[in-house]
Amino acid sequence: MKKRWDIIVVGGGPGGIFAALEAAKKGKSVLLLERKREMGVPVRCGEAVGEKDLRSYVDIDPRWISAEINSFIIVLPDGREVKLKSNIYSGYIINRDIFEYDMAARAAEEGAVIRLKSNVQELILKENGSVAGVRTMEAGEMREYYAGIVIAADGVESRIARQAGVGTALKPEDIEPCVQITASNVRLPEKALYLYVGFCYAPGGYAWVFPKANHCANIGLGINGKYSRVSRPVSAYMENFMQRFFPDASVQRYVTGGVPVSTNLKPLTKKNLLIVGDAGRMVNPLNGGGITHAIYSGIQAGKTAAGTCEAPGKAAKYFSQYERNIQKKFGKNHEHQYRIKDVVYQLRDEDYNRIGAEVLNIDIRKRSFLTVFRHVVKHRPEFLGDVLRAFTGI
Ligand SMILES: Cc1cc2nc3c(=O)[nH]c(=O)nc-3n(C[C@H](O)[C@H](O)[C@H](O)COP(=O)(O)OP(=O)(O)OC[C@H]3O[C@@H](n4cnc5c(N)ncnc54)[C@H](O)[C@@H]3O)c2cc1C
Repeated sequence: MKKRWDIIVVGGGPGGIFAALEAAKKGKSVLLLERKREMGVPVRCGEAVGEKDLRSYVDIDPRWISAEINSFIIVLPDGREVKLKSNIYSGYIINRDIFEYDMAARAAEEGAVIRLKSNVQELILKENGSVAGVRTMEAGEMREYYAGIVIAADGVESRIARQAGVGTALKPEDIEPCVQITASNVRLPEKALYLYVGFCYAPGGYAWVFPKANHCANIGLGINGKYSRVSRPVSAYMENFMQRFFPDASVQRYVTGGVPVSTNLKPLTKKNLLIVGDAGRMVNPLNGGGITHAIYSGIQAGKTAAGTCEAPGKAAKYFSQYERNIQKKFGKNHEHQYRIKDVVYQLRDEDYNRIGAEVLNIDIRKRSFLTVFRHVVKHRPEFLGDVLRAFTGI
């Protein structure tokens, strides 16, 4: 196995795959290291993506689509459903396993080498703090690989960025422990994203039901880390939820995972290291969506790394351009969403029920996210400042 590469990518989720694909397309030698035994599996995700968003990065293969979604339903603590106006959302519940498997195959066709069951243990650092390569554990054997540039796409745990000296620690309130099942025999009346809000379901977070093909659904729940207790873990909330709403569902898949719900990491580069996706905390902190964010940052990182290999003298310029591109795309927006999250998740169940009742009185054609927020402020005027700042970015 070759030891020296232009670029090493650690982690084969959407961020790492698109980084490897982009850099390989530009003719660089790329090694992608993934600790799992199969690309795309297990799926630790609700698999919801916006249609326009995904299409802006890739031509969509119909095999990736499990269900098309065109509406949005908020379920209140008292069980009533508030449907928002039609076409407020257009998206898919994808088959992430097929999607990632296919995209990894494309990266390989472009020349990237993918190595599974390769767990990156540590960075090999030079005296000046730049990264010389990585040490991996493969089938009980320690190996070393070297590269001019390393891309950290190792997800929420992000050992790599931390080892390079980037502060990646998250406060308890900036991480959501989640449980998700994929269940069959789930009959939903609408092709909608169902979001269940309120402390009774998921304190500081929400529960979701995302329909898939053949009466299957991704059903999950995330609570804010500050409410996570050994005596009442997120799995206990999930059990209650399933008992209440889907007692007859059969479980096909059960996964747990954490979602970073902070603002973007700063910095996103260190010497010759680039950080992408969840490792760079690029998830939307309000809704927990991060697939297309990982894809975007992966593409940007792949381009930056390839450009730097061609013109090492311009490394500083390319790396700061990477930071700027990511901050421009997500920075301010995620700061707004972060503030909105603070407002929304402080609401009490009675507030949700009251606000929901009022929104239900509005003609469905006028029920937008903004309408919902107007009613939030009406009931909790002390939040006005936060909501204004969130929408205006002040
Ligand atoms: C329960 C749940 C539901 C979600 N639902 C949605 C949703 O519906 N829509 C949405 O857009 N987002 C959703 N997300 C978020 C989304 O899954 C992530 O934002 C996205 O996967 C980030 O991609 P990534 O490539 O940055 O990281 P990941 O997808 O986490 O990929 C990181 C990869 O790195 C590998 N890795 C880690 N450490 C090492 C190492 N040391 N050596 C080698 N390999 C390593 C891991 O095995 C993994 O394959 C959800 C997350 C969770 C937990």
